[in-house]
Amino acid sequence: MVDTTKSGSRKLLGRLRDTLAGEGPAQERLDNITHLIADSMGAEVCSIYLLRDAETLELCATEGLKQESVHQTRLRIGEGLVGRVAKTAQPVNTDDAPSTKGFRFMPETGEEIFSSFLGLPIQRLGEMLGVLVVQSKEKRAFFDDDVYALEVVAMVLAEMAELGALTGEGGMTAPHQHAVMFHGTVGQEGVAEGQVWLHEPRVVVTNPVTDDPDAETERLEEAIEQLRVGVDQMLKRVNPADKDQRDVLDAYRMFANSRGWRRRMQDSISRGLSAEAAVEKEQSAARARLQSVPDAYLRERLHDLDDLSNRLLRILSGQGSETGAEMPKDPILIARSIGPGELLDYGRKLKGIVLEEGSVGGHAAIVARALAIPLIVHAERITGEALNSDHILVDGEQGVVHLRPDDSVVTAFRDKTAMATAAQLRFAGLRGQPAETTDGVNVDMYMNAGLMADLPSLESSGAEGVGLFRTELQFLTRNQMPKRSELKEIYSRVLNAAHGKRVQFRTLDIGSDKVLPYMKPNDEPNPALGWRAIRVGLDKPGVMRWQLQALIRAANGRPLTVMFPFIAQFDEFREGRDHVMRELDREAALGHPLPEKVEVGAMLEMPSLAFSPRQFFELADFISIGGNDLKQFFFAADRENERVRRRYDTLNVSFLSLIERIVERCDDANTPVSFCGEDAGRPLEAMCFVAMGLRSLSMRPASIGPVKHLLRRVNLADAKAVIDEARVSGSMSVRPAVTEYLKTLV
Ligand code: PEP
Ligand code: MG
Repeated sequence: MVDTTKSGSRKLLGRLRDTLAGEGPAQERLDNITHLIADSMGAEVCSIYLLRDAETLELCATEGLKQESVHQTRLRIGEGLVGRVAKTAQPVNTDDAPSTKGFRFMPETGEEIFSSFLGLPIQRLGEMLGVLVVQSKEKRAFFDDDVYALEVVAMVLAEMAELGALTGEGGMTAPHQHAVMFHGTVGQEGVAEGQVWLHEPRVVVTNPVTDDPDAETERLEEAIEQLRVGVDQMLKRVNPADKDQRDVLDAYRMFANSRGWRRRMQDSISRGLSAEAAVEKEQSAARARLQSVPDAYLRERLHDLDDLSNRLLRILSGQGSETGAEMPKDPILIARSIGPGELLDYGRKLKGIVLEEGSVGGHAAIVARALAIPLIVHAERITGEALNSDHILVDGEQGVVHLRPDDSVVTAFRDKTAMATAAQLRFAGLRGQPAETTDGVNVDMYMNAGLMADLPSLESSGAEGVGLFRTELQFLTRNQMPKRSELKEIYSRVLNAAHGKRVQFRTLDIGSDKVLPYMKPNDEPNPALGWRAIRVGLDKPGVMRWQLQALIRAANGRPLTVMFPFIAQFDEFREGRDHVMRELDREAALGHPLPEKVEVGAMLEMPSLAFSPRQFFELADFISIGGNDLKQFFFAADRENERVRRRYDTLNVSFLSLIERIVERCDDANTPVSFCGEDAGRPLEAMCFVAMGLRSLSMRPASIGPVKHLLRRVNLADAKAVIDEARVSGSMSVRPAVTEYLKTLV
């Protein structure tokens, strides 16, 4: 190697920058670059392979290999040594390339005479763009210094590529301009078309190279100091009980104080990278590692490092999270993850949400559902690919996202949306009509809610009331426990907005996936089976009593309906109910007006409750079947776990028999019963529940139309006969039989 010292590196970067900034087509620049690198690294060969599509690398420029092979030689990712570099995102450094495992002989290049090989990925923030290779005849391995020098060069190439310097004929297709499709998991159904709005916009590094390393080092030091102070301040503010947040901030602090991290960045600067590019170089390495690390803890820490790098970049570049960009007309929010409070701040402005992480039962999903905004989770790598204002389609039926879609995709999508809109219009026409089957069976349609923002749907959907008001959202979206007066205010507004329609308030259902940020979390091996909901309420009744007082005061003389979640056995319900009675007495003693009527119900979400003594069914004023939990416990299939959550059909004959049994027991005791799990909003499932005897369903407002539309076409006696026949035939699920029956309907 000729000169891979720091000053040598700096000289090379300076010349590279000038070449890349100069006029001329991409091919000319690429040729100049390979020439420059080979020359200053004292290597006979320098080649640049760029990614042509997701699978293929193409030799785009070379100094030293046969020129005829340029744009002819292609390799698949993983093929040959070059393909291996792209696949693993790791350098390959060997003094005997032809006998190194994976070497692929490419006669058209004439490379067989070159013994030493050093290949490095050209990547930006974990996104592979191509491979940079130097080769020489002499049989010797490249030194660490050589590797580092070339890594820095690859970094500058990646940065300049991002800025478009390698785009054009002979070079790359412009980055972030082609169509990309992402597969994810549906968090909230629905379709949306709009423009990308990045929750955390990408920082654009416009100056990857510096001539003044001392000044850059100083800038970096100052920025790290600012970052450290910021992290310490955040640590002071965080609730000591919030272990998760503390862990994250501790990890931030560890990185911010890490000598290794700083030294590597300073090293890159002394080789000619700007402070921003030096940060990105480390960030790229962390992202590359992320893709191959299976360990969940390590992955979390690498994510932390990524977040910290973003913060540092924002400090350095002065580009805050508010970049001055204006939110587009139909914003589709893209983020790695987002808290429920932040999502609520955006509110209904958003047309859709796409997250890289998150879960279908997570807080963001709860809020997205409440706001009826289509949500896709687990759309891997979308934050690295999407740019603000990109055209984007969210298909919350299929779990697919189309970024910068082709015209044909847009047309098909719009057709689909138009059909959905037409159906919505049809459903809206049913608003004032009863959900009555052709043989005269009437079903009461209620809606599920959890936010004030849901209440207008009570009018527009034609629901008879709120069958499930999830009260935990007001707790989950705050940084501290809401005050009793605040709760009273909210509940009172809910009742006002309901204009006398029934609202079934469910007391706080926390624990499991719903962890309050300000409460001491419990380290439980199986949180879904752990200390949650009514169990917390009864063991530590303070919050529950507080909530009951707020509800009684909010009712202010009006009827009040309360139900308890997660009741496993009779005594839990009795105890909960006793709390209501005691609070009523207490409120009366304080001189507050009592509700004109109080009904206390139980959610039946565990199979055990279906077999509880008759007295339970008699004492409960009403029962609401929480099908989401009931199903997960009946089949022992975690509702949050993608691998099993759809494994068992709701229309499984055993599950339907359980529903039927619950309805019978409620009917025997003359206790009203309804179903409020997600399945109530699926027309086929809803019809089967009605066939099992249910006469009241509660669902998302948007589902009321489709369910009603089906029920109004069904002859329930016929449907029941079809279901019963399937049940005795030995079928596992009645779905095939019922689907056939539906085809006979007009
Ligand atoms: C249920 O379990 O079905 C239910 C309605 O409650 P949640 O989804 O809030 O647990
Ligand atoms: Mg539940």
